[in-house]
Amino acid sequence: MIELDKIFKEALPIIEKIEEAGFEAYFVGGSVRDALLKKDINDVDIATSAFPAEIKQIFHKTIDVGIEHGTVMVLWGGESYEITTFRTESAYQDFRRPDTVEFVRSLEEDLKRRDFTVNALAMDKNGQIMDYFEGQQDLSNRVIKAVGSPQERFHEDALRMMRAIRFVSQLEFTMEQNTQEAIAEHHALLGKISIERISIEFMKLLQGKGRPKGLDLFIQTGLYAFCPGLEKHKDSLKKFARFEGELATRLAAWTMLIHYLEIPTSEVTKFLKLWKCSNKEMQEVQLAVKTLRARLAHPYTAVELYHSGLSIALEVEHIVEQLQFSADKDLVKEQYEKLPIKEKKEIQISGNDILTELNAKPGKWLGQLLEEIELLIITGKLANSSKEILIWVKNRPGIGER
Ligand code: ATP
Ligand code: MG
Repeated sequence: MIELDKIFKEALPIIEKIEEAGFEAYFVGGSVRDALLKKDINDVDIATSAFPAEIKQIFHKTIDVGIEHGTVMVLWGGESYEITTFRTESAYQDFRRPDTVEFVRSLEEDLKRRDFTVNALAMDKNGQIMDYFEGQQDLSNRVIKAVGSPQERFHEDALRMMRAIRFVSQLEFTMEQNTQEAIAEHHALLGKISIERISIEFMKLLQGKGRPKGLDLFIQTGLYAFCPGLEKHKDSLKKFARFEGELATRLAAWTMLIHYLEIPTSEVTKFLKLWKCSNKEMQEVQLAVKTLRARLAHPYTAVELYHSGLSIALEVEHIVEQLQFSADKDLVKEQYEKLPIKEKKEIQISGNDILTELNAKPGKWLGQLLEEIELLIITGKLANSSKEILIWVKNRPGIGER
């Protein structure tokens, strides 16, 4: 039995209300695992013998988030909780989704369909652990082991192979032998899984503290060859696996991966498109890669800092530090603060001002001129005042021909 954390205590009234209505309810999955590992817990999942319609009768404020899978969101004490009916998943015909989800009244049945023994633990309201598959033993041995036959479990849902490796990385565990052999044997099934689902696990793998071990397994089992754009990069991935620094964000993870794969800056977007990244993420990563490459060659110039922005520059500086190059975040901040302008819109003159002053017609030349002005201001060669800028414009050779 374990002492309940605050986050569990806050959710206790939910379990009690379900029990008062005559059903069972437990904390399940990652939160129980992480509580036993004494890790920080962000959210708790609850599993129950009550059917979704029954949960909706017990609680007033609910949102249907995945009724067909048995999940109802309950709003309670300013928090939201996912309550999922015990279920089994049967007849997986396409290696990815169960054909049917069947609600059941038994906790054990529900835990049996979960992926790994350490994820198949439940905890009641008193902190009593329900462990049908020796999950606690595997937790103390720090191993990831499939519940039941790994062959069958990976045939049911091939994403579990990626999940196994991501948990090795995230928890700094090792992989149980049969589970690992089954992945090596069935790695090609990953080809049946949507990129979006693979990408979530891959990002968690790269951000985990046990990434070197995780990447080794990713390569050894052959899973990497069924991930977008990686099949030809075995050797670079091996080098990446030897990098031991921290990659705390998705941005850092993508940037470092691309750095090791030596993908040209002009092809970063193409690579990230294969991974179905959002446009925003593609732009940020491309900028970070470009910034990293410049920064590894020399200290930041004002122009580079201006284009990267402070947050990307600092993130890149952190990566530079992890790569064991000399880095100085305070210096970067200081340098950034000294930039005469941080954004285009701070320029003290507009295109219209210039047109009026020169009595000229707009054209491509105007955009080019404004870019030239921007560059001179950033590099400190021209003061950011409308007066100074106009003087410079009027004296610029060739300007009279407009
Ligand atoms: P994290 O802390 O990263 O969220 P987690 O264990 O909570 O880790 P989730 O992906 O949130 O992982 O899944 C919650 C639980 O649902 C898991 O602990 C596991 O019991 C079960 N689960 C999730 N995905 C699968 C799957 N593909 N196959 C079987 N069980 C799964
Ligand atoms: Mg979770």
